[in-house]
Amino acid sequence: DPRIHGIKARIRVVPDFPKPGIMFQDITTLLLDPSAFKDTIDLFVERYKGRNISVVAGVEARGFIFGPPIALAIGAKFVPLRKPGKLPGQVISEKYVLEYGSDCLQMHVGAVEPDDRALVVDDLVATGGTLCAAINLLERVGAQVVECTCVIELPDLKGRERLNGKPLYVLVESH
Ligand code: IMP
Repeated sequence: DPRIHGIKARIRVVPDFPKPGIMFQDITTLLLDPSAFKDTIDLFVERYKGRNISVVAGVEARGFIFGPPIALAIGAKFVPLRKPGKLPGQVISEKYVLEYGSDCLQMHVGAVEPDDRALVVDDLVATGGTLCAAINLLERVGAQVVECTCVIELPDLKGRERLNGKPLYVLVESH
């Protein structure tokens, strides 16, 4: 798709952020270009409209940027998957392992129901640990995870293989 090139060109790569040796993929520069940002959302909407997706689950924090416009356009509800201590209601939690230490995602009980068909959205997949935790939260309440989607994949880290067989769709690969 010719739109992909323009999207890739708007993603800034920042060396040594947040620590030495990391090449940080920065999507804030994509958001500064309304045309490229719209192309990004349009590509997702074209893929997911008409597929009976009832919930878009967005991963804190950048899944909150891309998830809601997709949800509105396909007529699905939006559910935020948040870091610990942010959601005021009753939650379920899923811990996951990071390169150094561990982290956790939480989801409101009752936000997703057993007959829901879910799309998981984040900006980037690296090791796949974050998406795996998101999948587990949704499956624990009985929902079906139709697909995970991100703007960027770091394919060298093989995160795709950690998603319990769930399909992953991305717009841009970065090596
Ligand atoms: P994973 O769990 O190893 O797949 O890491 C993915 C999570 O880390 C996502 O929530 C991303 O937002 C974040 N992340 C990791 N690397 C980058 C990056 O280079 N740019 C933006 N986010 C990143």
